[in-house]
Amino acid sequence: MSTTPTNEALQKLRTEVISAGVSSVTPVHVASAKGAVVHDVEGREYIDFGGGIGVMNIGHCHPRVVAAIKAQAEKFHHTCFMVNPYEVAIKLADKLCRLTPGSFPKKAMFVSSGAEAVENAVKIARYFTQRPAVIVFENAYHGRTLLTMTMTSKVKPYKFGFGPFAPEVYRMPFGDVVGPEKLKDFFLKHVNPEAVACVVAEPVQGEGGFIAPPPGYFQTLATICRENGILFVADEIQSGMGRTGTMFAIEHWGVEPDLITVAKSLGAGMPIASVVGRKEIMDSVHPWGLGGTYGGNPVASAAALAVLEVFEEEDMLGKAKALGKKLNERLEAFRKKYKIVGEIRGLGAMLGLTLVKGSQREPAADEAKKLAAFCLERGLIILVCGTYSNVVRVLVPFVITDAQLEKGLSILEQGLAEMSK
Ligand code: PMP
Repeated sequence: MSTTPTNEALQKLRTEVISAGVSSVTPVHVASAKGAVVHDVEGREYIDFGGGIGVMNIGHCHPRVVAAIKAQAEKFHHTCFMVNPYEVAIKLADKLCRLTPGSFPKKAMFVSSGAEAVENAVKIARYFTQRPAVIVFENAYHGRTLLTMTMTSKVKPYKFGFGPFAPEVYRMPFGDVVGPEKLKDFFLKHVNPEAVACVVAEPVQGEGGFIAPPPGYFQTLATICRENGILFVADEIQSGMGRTGTMFAIEHWGVEPDLITVAKSLGAGMPIASVVGRKEIMDSVHPWGLGGTYGGNPVASAAALAVLEVFEEEDMLGKAKALGKKLNERLEAFRKKYKIVGEIRGLGAMLGLTLVKGSQREPAADEAKKLAAFCLERGLIILVCGTYSNVVRVLVPFVITDAQLEKGLSILEQGLAEMSK
């Protein structure tokens, strides 16, 4: 009988065999996970406020997803969609085309990761417009491939030492008033609008610090894009799949993006991502121009189909809204009570609190790190993000029970009290 190794033993082995460039937030090695709870190899239980970085919106090991994965794995797990296509991926594309905002005909394509989806969205936008440039934002995160790393805004750890970067990527501030005058100035100083294929934006910025835009921001931006023949791409990889209370965050502002990227909670942990968008744009690319060995893998597609069914049949959006409301109330109460809390950011159940210190209310990155360690010791996983690494974010599964949520929030509060001493 083999014995389960301890966290310490696994950590030691990990250090020997995993590249030092790959870090983990915690030394907690998982044995199993269910709903909003993770169990480690030593039998300890953790409330999961991170959801594997926004992937487990419907919870770990949802029984319907597990059943769909098992059933599909028993039939076949790979043929390559480009060799022998299959129904699950086609059905998933059909559902995604209906579910995404936009009252026009749409088409979808599948890849395996969020970064790949963003890369493909840019490829498609360039092909359709026959223009080279891409506009992105300060605080953006779009992935770790060469192009998406270039599009990402934070230097350390994502870009440092990894250049030279991809050309034709231009960056604007996020959330400033994007009046036509501001944009005119940007087009004057940085890039000719006639050279711009697309603007890629996270409707609510994730890794950059859970930043929601001011009212009217995306409406104006989308209008200016349209007037200049520039495609508007919404990167919904973190903000999508119900996290903000609507299926996709951009729906809050009634904007219909030309292309949308979806990943993370789409597959509930199975590696599947998608670009969904206007039919004529998605169809503009020549045959064989898009693809990949694993895109739309049947097991991952079956998991994603089950996720969408769970959304429909188990009122996940209702759960997300209720969770967002509860979280907002509690985090606001923390802000009022603890000086270390600067502001509450985000939208719906995509919420974060900034930690600040000193009379200038400067970002408190060390304290955020200490808070995460404090919480982990007491059985709560929380993640820190933000350009200044001082935003404690909550990406808790929507299926968390009241008791679990209460336990998690009370650990977080103890931590805030401790950090305030
Ligand atoms: N875009 C956004 C908005 C993201 O949050 C992420 C992942 N954090 C990505 C793209 C990249 O996704 P992946 O890690 O699956 O490549």
